[in-house]
Amino acid sequence: MGVRDYWFSLKSHVYVEFKKDKILLYNTQNGNCLETELKEAIGLISELYEPKNLGVALLTKEMQSHPDIWRFVENVLEKQMGDLMDMEKMPNKPIRLIPILNLQKDIDRLKKNEEDSVLIGKDTMYYLLELTIYLNDICTERCSYCNSYCRQTLCCTAQNTKSELSVEELENLFRQIQYSSVGKVNILGGNIFQYRDITKIQPLLDSFKEIIHCYFHYDNYETNVLSGSLALELTVNFPLKKDAFKNTWQLIDREKTTLHFIIENEEQYIEVENLIDEFNPAKYNIHPFFSGRNWDFFRENIFLDKEDIFSKTLSIREIFRNQKLNSNFFGSLFILPDGTVKASMNTQALGNIRTDSILSLIYREMLDNTAWRTVRNTQPCNECIYQYICPAPSNYEFVTGKPNLCHIKP
Ligand code: SF4
Ligand code: SF4
Repeated sequence: MGVRDYWFSLKSHVYVEFKKDKILLYNTQNGNCLETELKEAIGLISELYEPKNLGVALLTKEMQSHPDIWRFVENVLEKQMGDLMDMEKMPNKPIRLIPILNLQKDIDRLKKNEEDSVLIGKDTMYYLLELTIYLNDICTERCSYCNSYCRQTLCCTAQNTKSELSVEELENLFRQIQYSSVGKVNILGGNIFQYRDITKIQPLLDSFKEIIHCYFHYDNYETNVLSGSLALELTVNFPLKKDAFKNTWQLIDREKTTLHFIIENEEQYIEVENLIDEFNPAKYNIHPFFSGRNWDFFRENIFLDKEDIFSKTLSIREIFRNQKLNSNFFGSLFILPDGTVKASMNTQALGNIRTDSILSLIYREMLDNTAWRTVRNTQPCNECIYQYICPAPSNYEFVTGKPNLCHIKP
């Protein structure tokens, strides 16, 4: 406990989340955190954020004599989150820059430019990072959750209406994105091997080969159709037709293939482990699937607890990003076989490539925000001190209809 007055401040890499009766201090350099409900401590930290205080507050001897406040200050110092400066040695109040979200108001800027469409040029196109194109919607497989997998992870889906994107539409699409920031183009169906013009679009796919990923079900694979330079993404769901899978695995270019296991329960997880042991894929992902009937599996394996939330250290930039945009959805567009465009497979249509340019669709999403800027700003997340440390809402929140898949707020 001190015997003199001190200037107290937080280090500039500390992020503070204020909620009713509780605050979180988060060290963005090492992931350390400190939570308190102590009124005096909340008062002290709040003082730092008063504009006139410029990030520094006075910690008087009287305040230090309060054991709880002193314990809190000691904790802040131990966790390398703050400093005490001797007032005698530093009679003039110092200044400490504290991080406050003050980014350029992109959306307002876009709105202002609405009448002046000349200004929505190249910059808007840079928001587009990933494109998912459903070539067709026919498939002879009969997976039980054909219409649901694609709402939770990248997976084929078929209505068997025979709608298809034409070669011209695809050429037009790729022409529009050639000077964009798109770093990944996912090609899916139905069954892409049954896309009428699959050989005709091969040169087009080849000219973007570094960013093309072809997704298909293991039982739909056909040899010598796709060019050898493309990344292959093989969907494996259950129940597994082992012989068909084995056959595909023998024929496919395994170097270029990533396996995507879709699982609903523990038994399927064990099956995946056995398949991995047996087939030894170099690249694979496991995607839990919410069937509507496997809440227990989800509660145990998907729901976040505090340890999950703090398993990775977030930078101030990432936390501020979580306040502004959704890192799961931002920059993605989905194009369906009838030309419909969506910002996610769970949201309403933004338009159609047959009538709208990609640029105007990006612009629409930036303004309407069907998915790209959905953040944790509804109950109960907006009352939680982990609001913006917590990962952005995902498709799972959409399909379960539950805003918080966590054990923190029941
Ligand atoms: S393989 Fe894909 S498109 Fe075909 S039925 Fe299964 S999920 Fe649907
Ligand atoms: S309530 Fe929301 S913000 Fe808080 S931990 Fe749960 S999901 Fe994350």
